[in-house]
Amino acid sequence: MAIIVQKFGGTSVGSLERIEAVAEQIIQTKSRGHQVVAVLSAMSGETNRLLDLAHQLDANPSPRELDMLLASGEQVSISLLAMALIKRGYSAVSLLANQIGLRTNNRFNKARIKYIDNTRMLTELQQGHVVIVAGFQGCDDEGNVTTLGRGGSDTSAVAIAASLQAKECQIFTDVDGVYTTDPRIEAQAKKLDQVSFEEMLEMASSGAKVLHSRSVEFAGAHKMPLRVLSSFKSGSGTKINFNEANLTNNPVTAIASQKDEAMLTLFGISNDSLLKKELFLALAEADIEVDMIQQASINHKSNDLIFTLHRNDYLKADEIVNGLIRSNLLDKSCGDDKLVKMSLIGSGIRSNTKVSRQLFECLHENNIELFLISSSEIKISFLVKPQVHDLLVKALHQKFKLDQ
Ligand code: ASP
Ligand code: MG
Repeated sequence: MAIIVQKFGGTSVGSLERIEAVAEQIIQTKSRGHQVVAVLSAMSGETNRLLDLAHQLDANPSPRELDMLLASGEQVSISLLAMALIKRGYSAVSLLANQIGLRTNNRFNKARIKYIDNTRMLTELQQGHVVIVAGFQGCDDEGNVTTLGRGGSDTSAVAIAASLQAKECQIFTDVDGVYTTDPRIEAQAKKLDQVSFEEMLEMASSGAKVLHSRSVEFAGAHKMPLRVLSSFKSGSGTKINFNEANLTNNPVTAIASQKDEAMLTLFGISNDSLLKKELFLALAEADIEVDMIQQASINHKSNDLIFTLHRNDYLKADEIVNGLIRSNLLDKSCGDDKLVKMSLIGSGIRSNTKVSRQLFECLHENNIELFLISSSEIKISFLVKPQVHDLLVKALHQKFKLDQ
């Protein structure tokens, strides 16, 4: 008997009807002879509602208390699902993170999972129960409630699946799989039957919302087979494949976008190593994540440095940079906090030299200005203005024949 972990997101448990449908889905999986562990999100809108309550009370709420509050959303959905199964004559037990020994570090609001004690879950499964676990939450060494960051229940599910050595971790959501690009922008977007693990990792970290990027990292580290499926319609979804061989003939597999990007350019850096040390230390202390970094040396005396970050961190980063100007570590800076990062992702990019040429052709044909470009083995990322985003998605989708 294999263990299957099924994660249901907020819209999949968004109403009592939806919760009843999830119960049916679990019963189907059980009837195929599997043991099921379900990991749930809060009912859709609930985490936002709780967050809003906290912010009405205090613009900067205590991180510990915020986690205590936000974790309550999942407690509601897991107990309701257990009731729905019990009503149907199945035995089920709902469990909070501390009841399954899901330990995290103590970084409230963005805690990381350290380990999971699978004893309780295995005992419950052996007794024939469906185990229903609250996603998104954890417990630190002192017993405080923590949460894993927005969208974190995907990561809970993968970590739980890994700790149980499950056969597969299935992420049920409101779309029927992973698409070549956002189908709301490009109607020709196609569902992918499978994507390679490394492509999925790049997609998740480049803005594709379907999976929390840490969950993909976790799956990679534990070689946990993942599948994204719809909880609204049947189908085999998208399998995240660890076998890289010959997934597609196209060099590009998908186009992902990350809105809310900002860029800062630092001019006239005299002492490069000192500036970088001071800058990246201050950014790290302010908990600001830097995304792309590029450097150009106009002459040998001074350097320019460009980096990108999330728009929400722009003002804080700008203050840090202004401090460095006052300390004479650079001459001046400029920035833009309204940009979109687009990424072309595909295992085939590695061996195909035409991709960047085709990208520039496409930009030229559509008269689109590009701000910063960086490429890695299987990804080319660049920044554009938000106004041209949708047009460029469509043009690139066609250029790279993603609809075929
Ligand atoms: N309920 C949490 C959120 O809305 C966690 C999740 O859904 O993954 O972010
Ligand atoms: Mg999600």
